[in-house]
Amino acid sequence: MSTSADQAPGTAPGRDLAGLTALVTGGASGIGAATAALLTARGARVAVLDRDPAGAPAGTYAVAADVTDDAAVRAGVAEAVAELGGLHILVSNAGIGAIGTVEDNADDEWLRVLDINVLGMVRTARAALPHLREAAAVRPGSASITNTCSIAATAGLPQRALYSASKGAVLSLTLAMAADHVREGVRVNCVNPGTADTPWIGRLLDQAEDPAAERAALDARQPMGRLVSADEVAAAIVYLASPAAASVTGTALAVDGGMQGLRLRPA
Ligand code: NAD
Repeated sequence: MSTSADQAPGTAPGRDLAGLTALVTGGASGIGAATAALLTARGARVAVLDRDPAGAPAGTYAVAADVTDDAAVRAGVAEAVAELGGLHILVSNAGIGAIGTVEDNADDEWLRVLDINVLGMVRTARAALPHLREAAAVRPGSASITNTCSIAATAGLPQRALYSASKGAVLSLTLAMAADHVREGVRVNCVNPGTADTPWIGRLLDQAEDPAAERAALDARQPMGRLVSADEVAAAIVYLASPAAASVTGTALAVDGGMQGLRLRPA
């Protein structure tokens, strides 16, 4: 088997996404930024849509839009498509956290989080699908949507009622969309990260009395003794979006260090 000069065995597969175009929502921080950077490194032309786009990775085209604003999402997707010259890959990743039991969050907080985490993905998909269908018609196998879900969708985590419900909806939405668009050549999958080392987790830890001790305790609770990295989640998203996953649709890929699947005996 021969390998090209920039593709050593077992390493990143070079610029295999050259000629493809991608839009990443929430791409200015954490998992989204790592995904936008990896897509760019793999040769795709990438736009980032974020309500706070300052952190969009170098080489990407940044669009400021809030996924709760349907008109802004439509305009933002149109702007990105015009800039990139089309759209093959949508990574719908913008989302926020919420802590508490059902008794802790009032209706307006539920509606605010569901508006971002669930309807945000619906709005973005609605705006992107005509372009993805077009891409699939011209280049079969190239069009995909990958949603950032969470192991909270299926794991039964304490103090995460609202967040888990929002990600449960993302999981069901992903499966339903995969069925609706499979014959159009648009694959739809999601990744389920465990606790990932992003600015979001940093902000949560900063609220603790002793952030360093809290971080060590969080690491210790993971089966692997560490959080998953944003780059590791990005690698899974880029796999699902790539031609290597041409037969993969309606799948949730966990990147959680074994958090959900393993049943470890207490030490
Ligand atoms: P992050 O806070 O580092 O990044 C989120 C990005 O989304 C930010 O750039 C933010 O500006 C953008 N964003 C938020 N609300 C938006 C809105 N209404 N409109 C447009 N952009 C908006 O967070 P992260 O940890 O990288 O999380 C990214 C995704 O991963 C989220 O969907 C989250 O639910 C999911 N996730 C994260 C973890 C984790 O432990 N970090 C675990 C599982 C799932």
